[in-house]
Amino acid sequence: MKPIRWLVYSVWGMLTLLTGCQPRSASSLVLQPPPKGALQIVFFDVGQGDAALVQFPNGKTMLVDGGPPESATALIGKLHQLKVARIDYLVATHPHSDHIGGFVKLLNTLPVGEVWDPGFVYDSPVYLDYLRAVKRSGAKFRTVGTGYQATPAPNCQMEVFAPSKPFLRGTRSDANNASIVMRLRFGKVRVLFTGDIEREGRARIYRQGADLRAEVLKVAHHGSYNGTDLAFLNRVRPRIAIISCGWRNLYGHPHKEALQALQKAGATIYRTDLQGDITVRVQGDRLQVFTARKASPGVAPAVPAGAFAFIGNRVSKVYHAPDCKGLPKPENRVYFRSREEAEQAGYRPHRACIGQP
Ligand SMILES: [Zn+2]
Ligand SMILES: [Zn+2]
Repeated sequence: MKPIRWLVYSVWGMLTLLTGCQPRSASSLVLQPPPKGALQIVFFDVGQGDAALVQFPNGKTMLVDGGPPESATALIGKLHQLKVARIDYLVATHPHSDHIGGFVKLLNTLPVGEVWDPGFVYDSPVYLDYLRAVKRSGAKFRTVGTGYQATPAPNCQMEVFAPSKPFLRGTRSDANNASIVMRLRFGKVRVLFTGDIEREGRARIYRQGADLRAEVLKVAHHGSYNGTDLAFLNRVRPRIAIISCGWRNLYGHPHKEALQALQKAGATIYRTDLQGDITVRVQGDRLQVFTARKASPGVAPAVPAGAFAFIGNRVSKVYHAPDCKGLPKPENRVYFRSREEAEQAGYRPHRACIGQP
């Protein structure tokens, strides 16, 4: 019983949610290389598309999707800002242009170690350009599917749940359903990458009996109705959900069905269309989220009201009631759901607002 309790308190008790109350300072935190020993994932705002960079504690890097072609220049600029000089693993979840379009320019710009691709044959000019760029780059091309595992860094495991062969045919989008679905585990934190997997592809994963639980979920298919449902969320049980989609995109992503399911599942939703680049940093038992900007009014706030009852100060280790006059600066805030949780994490009460325990 001990290890699980410890996991709950240490990971979620120390959950820090830092949102962009001060846009300038927050955005400078978002595109900073991770501190020593930390694992960091940046979900880039690439407009309508997906691109996420994993920086492992040993300095290795993995880029999961590369956004559409038109965002490539900005993406490469952001990689420079993050001091990335090489991509060790480049993952093309599936051959759609909003996922691999940016890879063409990137493969011509940065050295790439190996490419993970589901091997789904797709006849589009962008996909063929990407294949040619891979070949030119000299990167190793690896077809990756269910059961594949890798350890890119000590204590960092990648586990692949999809696609399985033969590929699904006759679905709404066979290419989406061929998406690489994989989970990264670093210590006690798990992050699930889903590409654009749809209902049929997920059903196939369930049949394999895979344990899909993850604290952080990259929401499938830009928050489309066909990428998220409660059956899936009940298996993943995410605390943090990242939706990567374009501001006022043509598809109406994210769809209300997906947002409602995520809210029902109790996940805190982050959106690249509203908050820009989103950084998830895991250091020891602490998980932090930084966003480049604040969500616009009228849409889902980054931290749902009432979700956290107490606010701690990371520096002084004192915790406060949310209406206290002496709340810490936004960048030093740690949120707790209960006094017990705050005490467990080693915080003591602020006498003025909470009094003696
Ligand atoms: Zn897509
Ligand atoms: Zn797609």
